Amino acid sequence: MPVIKSFQSDEQALAENLSEELSLDVSMLSLDPPSDKKDLSFAPLSSTTSTSTTNTEEEGSGTYKERKWIVNESNLMQLFTRCPQCGQTVIDTKKFSFGSLLRVSWECINGHEGSWNSCNETRGMADNNLLVAASTLFTGATYVDIADWAACLNVQIPQKTTFYAIQSSYLIPVVDVFYKEQQAKLLEDLRLQNVLQKGANLSGDGRSDR
Ligand SMILES: [Zn+2]
Repeated sequence: MPVIKSFQSDEQALAENLSEELSLDVSMLSLDPPSDKKDLSFAPLSSTTSTSTTNTEEEGSGTYKERKWIVNESNLMQLFTRCPQCGQTVIDTKKFSFGSLLRVSWECINGHEGSWNSCNETRGMADNNLLVAASTLFTGATYVDIADWAACLNVQIPQKTTFYAIQSSYLIPVVDVFYKEQQAKLLEDLRLQNVLQKGANLSGDGRSDR
């Protein structure tokens, strides 16, 4: 903030500040630190982070690893103005959404119809709804955490009831299986240690362990 000198009128100071704000470069390029642009030694960790025009966009296609993008609805709907079959004008589009899934149905002036889904479905459930719930639970977050974030950005995610239904039906059972596998492995290691060293030492962290 520039120091407002005492002899300036309020109007003068305001005009000066305004002109300074307008002259600030807030374009995306200006947000890149200069060091980033000049770091020619940087090498991506793997081909999945490459932006070249190879087949990287195909990598992980149809799996949870596939890249996903935040797309504005108005930009997306620009893709549904012409019929992909005859190239004529689309006269009607209908949008249906469930959580993260968006389905667009269209009809062209020649009567061709079609529909498009924003992600695959497995046994009637949109894959991305499962993945939103899984990514939340498996990173230690809660529904409230991501719901607040998503609401602020207006990103579409499953409602609370859907989220918890997915969590209890699909995610908790997976956690249970993995927990039991890990537990069995640890117990097996301890049994082996007991045989080799004639005993195993157990300790807790002194807080609430018993
Ligand atoms: Zn058509």
